[in-house]
Amino acid sequence: MLAQVRSYTLFGLDAVPVTVEVDVSPGLPSYALVGLPDKAVEESRERVRAALKNAGFPYPQARVVVNLAPAELRKEGSHFDLPIALGLLAAQGVVPLEALSPFAVAGELGLDGSLRPVPGAVNLALGALAEGRRLLLPIENAQEGALVEGVAVYGAKDLREAVAFLRGEEALAQARPQDPLEEANTLLDLRDVKGQAKAKRALEIAASGHHHLLLVGSPGSGKTMLARRLPHLMPPLTPEAALEATRIHSAAGQALRGLIRTPPFRAPHHTVSYAGLIGGGAIPKPGEVSLAHRGVLFLDELPEFSRDALEALRQPLEDGVVTIARARASLTFPARFLLVAAMNPCPCGWHGDPERPCTCTPITRQRYADRISGPLLDRFDLVVEVPRLTPEELARAPEGESTLTVRQRVLAARERMLARQGRPNGELSGRALRQHTALSPASQALLQAAAKRLALSARAYDRILRVARTIADLAGSESIREDHLAEALTYRRSLG
Ligand SMILES: [Zn+2]
Repeated sequence: MLAQVRSYTLFGLDAVPVTVEVDVSPGLPSYALVGLPDKAVEESRERVRAALKNAGFPYPQARVVVNLAPAELRKEGSHFDLPIALGLLAAQGVVPLEALSPFAVAGELGLDGSLRPVPGAVNLALGALAEGRRLLLPIENAQEGALVEGVAVYGAKDLREAVAFLRGEEALAQARPQDPLEEANTLLDLRDVKGQAKAKRALEIAASGHHHLLLVGSPGSGKTMLARRLPHLMPPLTPEAALEATRIHSAAGQALRGLIRTPPFRAPHHTVSYAGLIGGGAIPKPGEVSLAHRGVLFLDELPEFSRDALEALRQPLEDGVVTIARARASLTFPARFLLVAAMNPCPCGWHGDPERPCTCTPITRQRYADRISGPLLDRFDLVVEVPRLTPEELARAPEGESTLTVRQRVLAARERMLARQGRPNGELSGRALRQHTALSPASQALLQAAAKRLALSARAYDRILRVARTIADLAGSESIREDHLAEALTYRRSLG
């Protein structure tokens, strides 16, 4: 008898429909698995056989052929265990075929018949939604799958429970997404950082205009603490952006506690592998640049990252996507993030510190700064020094504004940008930049004088215009005034 079970294979972020066909016919016991399975799918045979036996179900003493259709599509992952097991049972008449037909199914089996979670529950649920199917998943994935509205998701703890459910002997409750965490419980407040008014202002400008930011300061100056607060200053994700971010995290197998509504914050260590940063692997998964999509990618100790890693940031910074070449096809993942990097002022870390002496020479300092290539450095609209405060300075430092207060200004400024030009100022270049940053004669004179005095490159000139535009938007000003320009000029610093 022939049974068919619907499942999906993940191709990047997409769930592509796969029909698991199981044919059991009389003959010498044998098992053939066809339809371009990868190693994890091939190994399903042993897991499925043991799980069926140990859960007390029959294993056919006959000729078994399992076909994953369409044949030309490569099938990846261990989540085909459950559809294959249910197909074997349906082909033996243990599970009614008509009970299976409205469902899509995915799950890995343990040898004892227990169901183990699989990556990509959100992606699988989107596949089921597109086909108008219900979705049967391991219990640990059910809440995650239920984040997709409009799909009935059921979670089973083991094979026995899944079979009893399909036979109508046991009910399973439709999964509900977890209640979202209250923002107040997760909010990282700017007020927790003492002093550092200049760096906080840079965060506000970065969040408003989507300007990439480089923080330069000694160890312990609070660079990481500042960077972590940036996502909470940024506009919360729209419903579509939230689902998009959630889909990426689900496909990467990240634990999800609900729909991602706050822009994500990712801080890969400088030893991160190329695939870990950009994406890839045997079953290609999104890397850190995609996990940071719509949020912040924080690279601490920027000069310690490999040249290859930093070079690979170019495409996402340019195009907002990252392409992963594969043998048969290339995959594209979204990767539009706000880049925040931090570095010490010199190799020993103490150059410019009021208390500790720097032991570096001008040459080693220059070499350290040179590790970051010019094109990457050009990406940072904002460069700001974060000095280490002495205990006395910390005690005297005023508390400053809360994240929620600053975010009000950020949201208003961002709205102005979107109304004027449809995108944040940090993404303006070329003609659009000139068009939206027209200067008064007095401002023009000030900027030209500064350009001459500081020997600004054309790129540096553009960076200052973009930042000045955001400062004007934060002030609610239509025109870029001289004081806006003067402030913008303070967010540049040559390294080394
Ligand atoms: Zn030093």
